[in-house]
Amino acid sequence: MAQKGTKFEYALYVDGNKKEKYTVNELTAMRNNNLLMYNQTKIKLYCPYCGKARLTHRCPSEKNDHFTTIPHEIHETDCSAEIDYIPSKYLIKMKDVPKDYNMHNRLTGVLANLFLADNEMANPATIVDIEVNSKTPTTSLKQRTTTRYKIPRKLLTNDKILSEFKGIKIFYGKVIIKWYEPSNQESNSYYNHYMHILNPDKLTLICSVKFKDRLYRQIDEKYKQKDSPFKVGIAFFTDMIVKCDNKGTFLNSEISDLDNIVFYDL
Ligand SMILES: [Zn+2]
Repeated sequence: MAQKGTKFEYALYVDGNKKEKYTVNELTAMRNNNLLMYNQTKIKLYCPYCGKARLTHRCPSEKNDHFTTIPHEIHETDCSAEIDYIPSKYLIKMKDVPKDYNMHNRLTGVLANLFLADNEMANPATIVDIEVNSKTPTTSLKQRTTTRYKIPRKLLTNDKILSEFKGIKIFYGKVIIKWYEPSNQESNSYYNHYMHILNPDKLTLICSVKFKDRLYRQIDEKYKQKDSPFKVGIAFFTDMIVKCDNKGTFLNSEISDLDNIVFYDL
């Protein structure tokens, strides 16, 4: 059940023993700055999940650049590029009870896959066998359906099309963050903390993530530097909405369980 037109946010470059991952933005920048290198690189791109099917870098417009499978290239049978997205009712359950779905481990895996050059055969963002055919109580184990789904993901390095970020997804990438505290904290009251993810070039707000104080206190101090924006790897699973106010148009979300977020030292 190959998904037609799967858009990949990054691709695996393979040349002999050399393996490297490139995001869509990196390839677009390469095309703009070094056409020779770009032409040599784009012919050696493979699916980041199975490493088998060859990909091409499509650039209809800088805004919509993406990687896609070259026609007639075949992915591995269990490649996650070939499976459907998980139904939203499961996404809601996963968000509310992340422990039941090993969400913390999945997020760690998503980041490891992005930063390490190994293939991603055991895609941590897939769900196996969540749907059991239980119409009749006498149904034997043999008749259980084993369905694989993938959890939608969005790389947080391209803020050009904010509407694509809406909904429950894994958001991940190498980002610049800055913490904000409410300016009028009343003593003895509960208050919120805001992690702002900034555009790496312009340092404008891409995405604001709210934490209640009780959760914020449990985050490792090294990821809460207050003075200036800093770089970190991040993966989190939440419901994102697009918001417009005096800061401009940005994405807004809240983390309500620390199992739904992972930080990664760069
Ligand atoms: Zn593949």
